[in-house]
Amino acid sequence: MRVNFLQVLRDNHGRVINYLRLAVTDRCNLRCFYCMPEHGLDWLSRTDLLSYEEMLRICTLLVKNGISKIRITGGEPFVRKDIMSFIAALSTLNGLHELTITTNGVLTAPFIPELKKYGLRSVNLSLDTLDRNKFLAITRRDELPAVLNTLEQLLHHGIEVKLNAVVMDGKNTDDIIPLVQLTKDLPLSVRFIEEMPFNGSGNTMTAPQWNHIKILETITNQHPGISKLADPPYSTAYNYHIPGHKGTIGIIAAYSRSFCGTCNRIRITPQGMLKTCLYDNGVLSIRDLVRAGNTDEQITTQLTNAINHRAKNGFEAEQNSVHESMAAIGG
Ligand code: SAM
Ligand code: SF4
Repeated sequence: MRVNFLQVLRDNHGRVINYLRLAVTDRCNLRCFYCMPEHGLDWLSRTDLLSYEEMLRICTLLVKNGISKIRITGGEPFVRKDIMSFIAALSTLNGLHELTITTNGVLTAPFIPELKKYGLRSVNLSLDTLDRNKFLAITRRDELPAVLNTLEQLLHHGIEVKLNAVVMDGKNTDDIIPLVQLTKDLPLSVRFIEEMPFNGSGNTMTAPQWNHIKILETITNQHPGISKLADPPYSTAYNYHIPGHKGTIGIIAAYSRSFCGTCNRIRITPQGMLKTCLYDNGVLSIRDLVRAGNTDEQITTQLTNAINHRAKNGFEAEQNSVHESMAAIGG
């Protein structure tokens, strides 16, 4: 009999950690106003960024120690040169059960068959509105047709789509119902996300008026038959279904932080900082450990030690931290 010794990584609060969100770049071809200023960010230099070799080494160590899901994010992953070779290399990691990506969809469509070849079964696509003018106002780029083409191609190739929309006071709240309407004929999950204070201008945001309660009320007013679905393990979304619709709806209380008790994720930023909470400032420079010549064992010890000092929730983590751009974190 073959015994499979499954490595389980837990934090100091007993939560399983099995999910890594890896931001491969801070650069982006859009300028979503909730994520970064119109002129962009002070982009990281190439030497500041983790190289693909460094990322692969770190991912290999983490997968050996219990990470079974990796999401590639950014910035926009497809603006980093040779991203597909990196995805190909990651897809061969033994013990990695799920590899996925979050993208704005502008450059994504041509890569879909190759993504499928590397075993990607689902993609998170960010789309806050179906109106071209509003898309331009929110992202400061006129790219809605390219994003819609990506959506169509993903569905055509049988890739599961989670369509993520940030709900912004006074900007796209009229888009909630049209986005919900997509679930009538399309087999996708439309997820509404509370706006978070990560627009690259520091701690300037108060609690969003459009929180998860108000979003659900708005949908329920239009669709009183909406029903709650069982949420999958570690889900950050409350999931719902409207009778007769092919797709589902999710609401993510990202600002209200109602899901910290089961949070299974860690993040690595483009310059190699480990974040054990979205709301912390980064707790360990893995890049510096790697570049200082540490062995795999030494790096693993530091990583597990950081995970053993994890904040209990996002409110504890954000004390003394300064909110940066989401593009420098990965969402
Ligand atoms: N560029 C890719 C994209 O937009 O899908 C990946 C990176 S982006 C930082 C990841 C996710 O973070 C996107 O779904 C985006 O909408 C979300 N996001 C960015 N800034 C946010 C904010 N201030 N509040 C809530 N979500 C945000
Ligand atoms: Fe770019 Fe994504 Fe940030 Fe928009 S949310 S500016 S697409 S990184």
